[in-house]
Amino acid sequence: MIPTRTPRRAKTVQYRDFDATELFCPRCRRAVPVRKRLLLILPEGEKYDYTCAFCGTSVGDKLVRPSPPGSGLEF
Ligand SMILES: [Zn+2]
Repeated sequence: MIPTRTPRRAKTVQYRDFDATELFCPRCRRAVPVRKRLLLILPEGEKYDYTCAFCGTSVGDKLVRPSPPGSGLEF
């Protein structure tokens, strides 16, 4: 893993469920790889918690809304 350069994103990024792979950890004071963990299942979607892979600090969360019916189910 060489996180020195961020590849430029194409402008035609499909809007799909983005997965954050690195987030800023306030404890490590740097961008860190994160672990995604299902935290809660809410009526409006599933809440995921992102924790720092090094120190385990929670660095963010995300609510994933269920796909509309007919578009296929992805997990
Ligand atoms: Zn950390």
